Amino acid sequence: MTPCTDYKTAVRAYTEATGHEWHPRAALIDMDGTLYDSMPNHARAWKRLMHEQGIELSYEEFFLHEGRTGADTIDSLFRRELGRAATDDEKRDLYNLKTVYFQEQPPVNPMPGAAQMLSELEDNGIRRILVTGSGQSSLIGRLSTDYPGAFAVDDRITSRNVTHGKPHPEPYLRAMELAGTQPWESIVIENAPLGVESGVRSGAFTVALTTGPIPPETLADAGAHLVLPSMQALADILPKLLQEPEKNDQIIKSLNH
Ligand code: MG
Repeated sequence: MTPCTDYKTAVRAYTEATGHEWHPRAALIDMDGTLYDSMPNHARAWKRLMHEQGIELSYEEFFLHEGRTGADTIDSLFRRELGRAATDDEKRDLYNLKTVYFQEQPPVNPMPGAAQMLSELEDNGIRRILVTGSGQSSLIGRLSTDYPGAFAVDDRITSRNVTHGKPHPEPYLRAMELAGTQPWESIVIENAPLGVESGVRSGAFTVALTTGPIPPETLADAGAHLVLPSMQALADILPKLLQEPEKNDQIIKSLNH
């Protein structure tokens, strides 16, 4: 599918598809590959782990699993590659090992443009909620250092708060519950196809950023309403994007008079 890269077109198409004017009050923000440039490290850790299980997969493959909980990723790869489900012990032990391999990687950097994106949201009165499939306490613990004040401790949905991980809509639905917003009052900010699918199924306006090897078309296929080439690109258009619904209202009002 051809991705929509123009924010005005994306907002209009969202309103037409859902029957609701979009009036953002909360931003539901993914962590890996969105707030942190952590996906290359995750992919390397997964590749090493699976290689040790006799499962040879490409580095890029792991970007497609991003967003799933660790247990779900292990189980789905076991089913596909070994023809059987992973046991609970395997899911726990292998995910613990993957966490060790992740932590052995070079330090992860905040995503360029993410701090600006978060402050634009704050300046526009948008509540910020973290929504991650990760249980990596090493990165979650860094949030308050790298992005001071951006996410209150209670404004975080992690793998521990949900029964079903992405691509199920539960993580984003839980985040909206927390924020007290309707889908048409929410913006999801994602980088992975499964995360985008989760956001779209929750009903929120979903923006996908190409921060890794996943092509824009794949993010459009997952349902992204708007696809942008980087976090910096989102930070730069965010003030205009957030004010777009009000401009539409003014146009509608002037047409009615
Ligand atoms: Mg992500």
